[in-house]
Amino acid sequence: TTSRVINFGAGPSTLPQSVLEKAAQGLLNFEDTGIGIAEISHRSKEFVAFISNVEALIRSQLNVPPTHSILFTQGGGTTQFSAVVLNLLARHKLLHPELTDDERVMDYVLTGSWSKKAFLEAKRLGGARANIALDARKYSKDGVSFDNVPPHDEYAFSPASALIYYCENETIDGVQFSPDPSAQTSFPFTILPRERSGLLPLVGDHSSSFMSRPIPHLSEHAVIFAGAQKNIGPAGLTVLIVRQDCLVDVDAAAKLGATPVPLCLSYKTLAEGRSLYNTPSLLPIYITGLVLERMQELGGLAYFEALGRRKAEKVYAAVRAGEERGVFQGKVQAGSCSWMNVIFNVLGSGAESRFLAGAEKVGMKGLKGHRSVGGIRVSLYNAVTEADTDKLVDYMKEFVSEAS
Ligand code: PMP
Repeated sequence: TTSRVINFGAGPSTLPQSVLEKAAQGLLNFEDTGIGIAEISHRSKEFVAFISNVEALIRSQLNVPPTHSILFTQGGGTTQFSAVVLNLLARHKLLHPELTDDERVMDYVLTGSWSKKAFLEAKRLGGARANIALDARKYSKDGVSFDNVPPHDEYAFSPASALIYYCENETIDGVQFSPDPSAQTSFPFTILPRERSGLLPLVGDHSSSFMSRPIPHLSEHAVIFAGAQKNIGPAGLTVLIVRQDCLVDVDAAAKLGATPVPLCLSYKTLAEGRSLYNTPSLLPIYITGLVLERMQELGGLAYFEALGRRKAEKVYAAVRAGEERGVFQGKVQAGSCSWMNVIFNVLGSGAESRFLAGAEKVGMKGLKGHRSVGGIRVSLYNAVTEADTDKLVDYMKEFVSEAS
């Protein structure tokens, strides 16, 4: 298939060719059942065994402790913007029936467009209870953009919030928390206000960095969620990692006055049904399973972490070289730059279109930035190889030398 291009798209995004070829066979005949994966019962023993292996592959590679359930659902990250609010407000109601609903504050850390969108949904569902614990735009170069992660002492958390929310990697803005815990641009895990039990009501949107490197303080999270369609599979599968005290009886909470929760959004329902409460997305789960098997064969998360670091360093170095010649301009402040989505501008009138057209001519697509921020966005998810990255870097160097 020589017609495949190098796809730097932000999601859905490129998948390994070997996986797609295997999946094509599975579409006709899943695991020698004689039935294709899009046709077989989700309660067949073959699929039930497959989905529990997908869970095991995530659990072992990410080191998910037994305190946390791994759940599969649909509806993407966007559905989780609503589900985390409903489940964790119900949990808070059961934990603290003595508080008034106005006291059930939800703290949001805004570092980009996706955390902002999640905050707006919390406001829809929870009104004034949705609180901004940090707005990174205040610390931006222009005062209005998301281009940084602020230092730890800028956060203002509420003492007893129902949830503390952050987005690990902001796909549109190219802002990501540092994996180095001593960096001021890391997530401030150590200063979060704890519950009486010592637990944290911490929710992380890991949609666009899931399975690209280890998750810091994973075991302290209440909920981690991620759509599959960046690093591990096609759209249609959402992975949840939920601490078991967050699998709450939402009907018991509703009896006390909490908002009733649709059953398919209830984490307890999903867990009790072992992710088969309703028909799951069999084909996306299948392809994701194949990707995770391949990841394991290649050396798991450590392999992809090292690869991801190298790819990002190469592209940022090319951006900086272009900056020195006045051809490119990076958008994100140092220390907050995403490994997954590199954002920069091409300076000069018509230059951005020339950059995109030239890239397409040599077989590289998906580089146009999100319509809300413009510029170029290079997405470097797991299936983008180092050779693909080198080809882009060569093209960037060539573009700079021709433009300057
Ligand atoms: N969060 C992040 C960080 C994302 O990148 C996206 C999608 N690009 C979403 C949430 C929304 O996910 P979905 O489109 O799967 O609902």
